[in-house]
Amino acid sequence: MFDKILIANRGEIALRVIRACREMGIKSVAVHSTADSDAMHVRMADESICIGPPSGAQSYLSIPAIISACEITGAQAIHPGYGFLSENAKFVQIVEDHGLKFIGPSAKHISQMGDKITAKDTAQALGIPCVPGSAGGVPTVAEAKKVAADMGYPVIIKATAGGGGRGMKVAETEADLEVAFSTARSEAKAAFGNDEVYMEKYLQKPRHIEIQVFGDGQGNGVHLGERDCSLQRRHQKVFEEAPGPCITPEERAKIGKICADAIGEMGYAGAGTIEFLYEDGEFYFIEMNTRLQVEHPVTESIFGVDLVREQIRVAEGLPLSFTQDELEINGHSIEVRINAERLPNFAPCPGKVTAFHAPGGLGVRMDSALYDGYSIPPYYDSLIGKLIVHGRDRKEALSRLHRALGELIVDGIDTTLPLFDALLQEPDIHSGNYNIHWLERWLEKNM
Ligand code: ADP
Repeated sequence: MFDKILIANRGEIALRVIRACREMGIKSVAVHSTADSDAMHVRMADESICIGPPSGAQSYLSIPAIISACEITGAQAIHPGYGFLSENAKFVQIVEDHGLKFIGPSAKHISQMGDKITAKDTAQALGIPCVPGSAGGVPTVAEAKKVAADMGYPVIIKATAGGGGRGMKVAETEADLEVAFSTARSEAKAAFGNDEVYMEKYLQKPRHIEIQVFGDGQGNGVHLGERDCSLQRRHQKVFEEAPGPCITPEERAKIGKICADAIGEMGYAGAGTIEFLYEDGEFYFIEMNTRLQVEHPVTESIFGVDLVREQIRVAEGLPLSFTQDELEINGHSIEVRINAERLPNFAPCPGKVTAFHAPGGLGVRMDSALYDGYSIPPYYDSLIGKLIVHGRDRKEALSRLHRALGELIVDGIDTTLPLFDALLQEPDIHSGNYNIHWLERWLEKNM
């Protein structure tokens, strides 16, 4: 069993991991950049260690600094959170070469899923349904034209190394293809240092449905149902819920079993998310994330399980603390992502939080590293908190979200909170009638 875990992250997710450690009787080590000396994760951990200057590349992404921090503090394992080094196979290998434990899947599984073409090939081989698309990378415009003509327009060009919604371009017709192709490639090159792209049929009105899976690394896999993350801006999730408003128990059981079996067959260890687009009753695999997701709390709320605790247990070589049969959905949960951004353009808006009050009461959870007087540094992601509500059904969860938003105070900076007040006025949100394009269209009309 571990007695000390280092958390290679910051913000709300670092707090999330510290909380799980504390409940398990494990000591926590926070790492931080010089810009984060006053951050909440530093205050809340049992120990903290400065690992470099503000820039992520020289601190939270610095492998030597993080390994040294483990050696200095005697931490035996590293929890990577999400983002930063969480899906970096090279990091995992280095961690293991130093006799430390990475809390997450193997380097092999991370690299298999980190390259989206390999991921799709793997998924297909495991019997997971995929979006129709090119067989592998598409090197030239001429080739892209051929693929698109066979598949039919519209098409989407995507970076093989993609993530965070970058390096993705849609071509509605052949006239758009040349520009879309070269823009996707140059964006991919700039963001990931790899300009390889592939193509998919561009689905017109899908929902984004993702299946939470867990493997024990011993050949057993389970699924924890789906999350609907269709409300997106620039391919980035804004509002997530579980269960999906349009998924039937039969559909859940069927796709869930396919995913759980795949995870078992892979020998996958820890938490993962298999992402699908869902249209006209069909699921189409788009990618797999080999880490804990930002939106994991909605799944925790409806199943009453602690996913971080399970990650730690699996890394310790223990079995999962539940079987598939024991997992039962209870009610409905919604999460909204609160960013330090100014509407209507979502411009990053770091600065000093002059007052912060978190909502509370039945069925309300606020995961945030904010506090009164905290200065949000400009160097990192703009996510400053997640408000998660749970109700006996979707209607109750929505009323609770409305009530909790009314209690939440974040003064001194601009945030995306007004967006959620406005969304709660929309009949489509109440009926669950939305797809991945709904929010972009709504923003064009309303902001
Ligand atoms: P990333 O890893 O950058 O997040 P994903 O492959 O997960 O990229 O896709 C992110 C989002 O982009 C999806 O949730 C969806 O909204 C949109 N998208 C991706 N592929 C397609 C497709 N084939 N058709 C329509 N939309 C797509």
